[in-house]
Amino acid sequence: MKAMVLRQAHEPMTLEELARPEPGPGQLRVRVETCAVCRTDLHVADGELADPKLPLVLGHQIVGVVDAVGPGTDAEVGQRIGIPWLGWTDGDCRYCRSGRENLCDFARFTGYHLDGGYAEAAVAAARFCLPLPHEYSSLQAAPLLCAGLIGYRALRLTGEAEHLGLYGFGASAHLIAQVARWQGRRVFAFTRSGDTSGQAFARSLGAEWAGGSDDVPPEELDAAIIFAPVGELVPTALRALAKGGVVVCAGIHMSDIPTFPYELLWGERIIRSVANLTRQDGREFLELAPRVPVRTQVEPFPLAAANEALDRLRAGKITGSAVIVIGS
Ligand SMILES: [Zn+2]
Ligand SMILES: [Zn+2]
Repeated sequence: MKAMVLRQAHEPMTLEELARPEPGPGQLRVRVETCAVCRTDLHVADGELADPKLPLVLGHQIVGVVDAVGPGTDAEVGQRIGIPWLGWTDGDCRYCRSGRENLCDFARFTGYHLDGGYAEAAVAAARFCLPLPHEYSSLQAAPLLCAGLIGYRALRLTGEAEHLGLYGFGASAHLIAQVARWQGRRVFAFTRSGDTSGQAFARSLGAEWAGGSDDVPPEELDAAIIFAPVGELVPTALRALAKGGVVVCAGIHMSDIPTFPYELLWGERIIRSVANLTRQDGREFLELAPRVPVRTQVEPFPLAAANEALDRLRAGKITGSAVIVIGS
């Protein structure tokens, strides 16, 4: 099979011919149709995350059709499924036992510890694969699998917040803004300053106000979700936050957070991160998405152009989500 292989961080991936993987016990194999690009892929390629498997096939928003199953696997050949970031957990540590498998001490992640979807085929543990809503084409469904799922988990952690700020209007925010509007919340979008097309994009998806990240929104925020990997945004978001509000950091990596005066946190303001996802998050969001309905804005790339997709994401040039299209 053809795959884009990361041999070393800081180096471009190379298009290689690899042996097609065989599914082991409890695993299935898919013929990959699409795989959306996540900012986490960029953090791995840029050496900002500590322990990827190398060489590695990136990609954890995989839409594929099952073409082989291993022993003891309850999946049907021909079924279209999604393979998300959470690739495996032990099911037995104190986090797994308390409904927090996203925090599992022994979790293995797709496109990080396990080969992912920038390839013609991928294997995955069947019990972590997700059914996909039939309303979505494989191109449109791929970004739901991390941008959507993690964004949804971050949104849930904002509780009942009515005034919601979204910092960084990329793959996740463009989906979550639609869910938030549908839930009756008011959305305020923050982009890189001067990114007027990003701000227009945010308004087209229901943000009532869009501005640069240093701009003061017209109303105090009850919650802010930071999707951009920029630690400076934490005190910036705290400044925009009403008492009792929460700042949710939704990325897996962020530059250092600068020191800030305690009065920004005073008034029961909260800063928290969101880590990974549970299968329950996945099932809930994929059931919700067609009801909203969440529309995904995608920019397709052929497999051989995966490096270009990462470069454009790094430069902030993707509107919505980049998706690698492999077969269909
Ligand atoms: Zn991701
Ligand atoms: Zn565990």
